[in-house]
Amino acid sequence: MGKIILTGDRPTGRLHVGHYAGSLKRRVELQNSGQFEKIFIMIADAQALTDNADNPDKVRQNIIEVALDYLSCGIDPKVSTIFIQSQVAELCELAFYYMNLVTVSRLQRNPTVKTEIKMRGFSDDVAEGDTTQKKGIPVGFFTYPISQAADITAFRATTVPVGEDQEPMIEQTREIVHKFNSVYGETLVEPQIMLPTNSACLRLPGTDGKAKMSKSLGNCIYLSDSAEDVKKKVMSMYTDPDHLKVSDPGKVEGNTVFTYLDAFSTDEHFAKYCPDYENLEAMKEHYRRGGLGDVKCKKLLIAVLEELLQPIRERRKHYEQHIEEVYDILRRGSDEARKAAAETLNDVRNAMRINYFEDKELIARQAAEYRKE
Ligand code: ATP
Ligand code: MG
Repeated sequence: MGKIILTGDRPTGRLHVGHYAGSLKRRVELQNSGQFEKIFIMIADAQALTDNADNPDKVRQNIIEVALDYLSCGIDPKVSTIFIQSQVAELCELAFYYMNLVTVSRLQRNPTVKTEIKMRGFSDDVAEGDTTQKKGIPVGFFTYPISQAADITAFRATTVPVGEDQEPMIEQTREIVHKFNSVYGETLVEPQIMLPTNSACLRLPGTDGKAKMSKSLGNCIYLSDSAEDVKKKVMSMYTDPDHLKVSDPGKVEGNTVFTYLDAFSTDEHFAKYCPDYENLEAMKEHYRRGGLGDVKCKKLLIAVLEELLQPIRERRKHYEQHIEEVYDILRRGSDEARKAAAETLNDVRNAMRINYFEDKELIARQAAEYRKE
């Protein structure tokens, strides 16, 4: 059997350079490598609704934004299937059956869900009539790792290229696959996570220095930001708060400018934009020693990001003028995804023996038993 990819993003905002570093760049490379039998890229609107139930318009509007970002980054709809999660009803049915294979306490231990519950201001002790700002945890949000297992297994994905925050989800999926196969017989494919090889890309911090660049935190450099916006965002970026004078020694660990340079810069960039240094290591060395100001490092970062973002921005402009065509791509992708998921669902129903009408032997046996009586 060939290798299959499933990956995706929540349509809660435009995509940012954290998505690019953590997952998108890899997807385009894998797509162009020709090593995969199928590539499914999902716009996870149903998942986005689990914590945006009161804001369906936000999700609805951002589907096209995410699709435009995909196409601008080089996802080729002739090779990869781009689809919308909610248009594949089979995924809900799979998730419903998988729920029987996972305990509440197992879900409560999921570290990513725990962090996200805090980030979104959810609390599990909101009493009826509570007038504080606290919101209870929606059941759908709490169980989204199970729904993600349905997404991955529906397409028999072998490979899931994602950022580090997704590790607990893939682990949960593997557990469900094991459990399902041991209870009902070998049916589902066990996926492997594919993490970025560059450690700065595992979880790119926000421009505010917070642990993760995230649409929900408003600390992002978007792939569609104008050159002017990128410049402004980089210039006001978090660096080393103790590096006050240029002559002071500076810290590069936890310094967001250097983390971004780790993620995006190459030796060629230094030759082109900052020939005073042979490479990033030489620049870091000078910064640590003292005598190198933040502005010089930030200017280099702006040039590096511009080189990455300029062609993406150009391609986006083209697709923005062809919105109907983009929706056609999504419609065709969703139809194709639905066919693939239906095949897996059929296998799952057979394995679980809930295929009553197709089971001629069951009907004949029960009929014979009753006739005997
Ligand atoms: P939200 O705040 O709505 O959860 P998000 O910015 O976290 O949005 P997702 O759609 O949840 O984005 O994530 C999509 C993919 O991008 C996942 O594979 C995730 O691992 C990766 N990703 C998201 N943010 C980062 C980041 N800062 N660094 C590396 N990878 C990231
Ligand atoms: Mg997220």
